[in-house]
Amino acid sequence: MDVQTETECAARTQTQGPSTLAVHGGGERDNPYHAVAPPIVQTATYAFRNTVDLIAFQEARQWGEAHGRVDYGRYGNPTVAALEARVAALEGAEAAAAFSTGMAAIIAILFAFLRSGAHLIVTEDIYRRTRQFILQFLRRFGVETTVVPIGDLEALESAIRPNTRLIFTETPTNPYLRVVDLERLAEIARRRRIRTVVDSTFATPINLRPLDYGIDLVVHSATKYLCGHNDVMAGVVAGSAELIAGLREMQAMLGGILDPHAAYLVLRGLKTLALRVQRQNENGMRVAEFLNAHPKVRRVWYPGLPSHPDHLIARRLMRGFGGVVTFEVAADREGTSGFIDALRIPYIAPSLGGVESLVEQPALMSYYEMEPEDRLAIGITDNLVRLSLGIEDADDLLADLDQALAQV
Ligand SMILES: *Cc1c(COP(=O)(O)O)cnc(C)c1O
Repeated sequence: MDVQTETECAARTQTQGPSTLAVHGGGERDNPYHAVAPPIVQTATYAFRNTVDLIAFQEARQWGEAHGRVDYGRYGNPTVAALEARVAALEGAEAAAAFSTGMAAIIAILFAFLRSGAHLIVTEDIYRRTRQFILQFLRRFGVETTVVPIGDLEALESAIRPNTRLIFTETPTNPYLRVVDLERLAEIARRRRIRTVVDSTFATPINLRPLDYGIDLVVHSATKYLCGHNDVMAGVVAGSAELIAGLREMQAMLGGILDPHAAYLVLRGLKTLALRVQRQNENGMRVAEFLNAHPKVRRVWYPGLPSHPDHLIARRLMRGFGGVVTFEVAADREGTSGFIDALRIPYIAPSLGGVESLVEQPALMSYYEMEPEDRLAIGITDNLVRLSLGIEDADDLLADLDQALAQV
């Protein structure tokens, strides 16, 4: 696709709704063989007709006029490019880049925009592996990090130093579904010319578009809602063409590209994103209200409940509250495990955002190897349960929860 068509595409899709964008966004309608489905271009390298053709390409590439033509699989693929255009349209971004996993995307961002001597600010409650990479690995390369409490933008502002280059946050967070006031965050960062990155995996572009509030880059583990079927791993980043070009340079070295077949599956999943998320929002709200009123449940975290600390921010920024509900069962660790084992619909598995409901006891899943005191210090109690709602019927999910809670 040449630059001209890209601009026209952006102009055409700007006014369309999220359901239309999920199906057609960034769309290249002229597929080979008039196919409606985008072809899976399964190739590792791209050939030249002759040496004249090769030199013309090298010259064009040097002047930035290669128009998407590449010579090797690590530098681009048409199926992956179709996915990137779709994600860019959904996020209201100029461009997007796809990666092999969410972690590959996050690490490419951190490597691309930080160097030795730089300072990074992250909010508490971020994805465990992101936190580990930043606090343990980046530190070895001379990047200093300040961790600030999630709802405290004053603390964040006073953590800013002259060498602060990046603010990284997540919204809603895992497992407490805290929602960051992105409007204020972007305003604070822009005044100081600091780049902002939001891991918006839990929100999806259906419920929240961080770039609309002035955030620079939005990143997703596409393994979760974007693909939505618990069968593919992928990551995507969306933002300005300039920032995405910087990420592509980094990806050209790091690797971590998305395989074209996986890209096809994420594109296919995206077509139903708006429908799935709408159902998951409904299921989330029904389940949160049910649990909130249940005597065997001690506490519920769901941004759609007025009792959630960020309910008002979520109402202002988000179009839906999502499909993840976190709660404490009125039981000890074993009692909580008994409740989970009694559930019949959700699978016991890490991950979230797919059509199948998944349930986990964080103390026994992502946080198993942590010392119990350290776990408690970050709020992971033994009776905590994270439930990721799929697209099943809400009545069936409620009946299942009810029978399992009756056994507590
Ligand atoms: C799963 C997840 C990641 C990591 O993504 P992978 O695709 O598993 O590499 C990052 N951030 C959040 C919020 C996640 O849920």
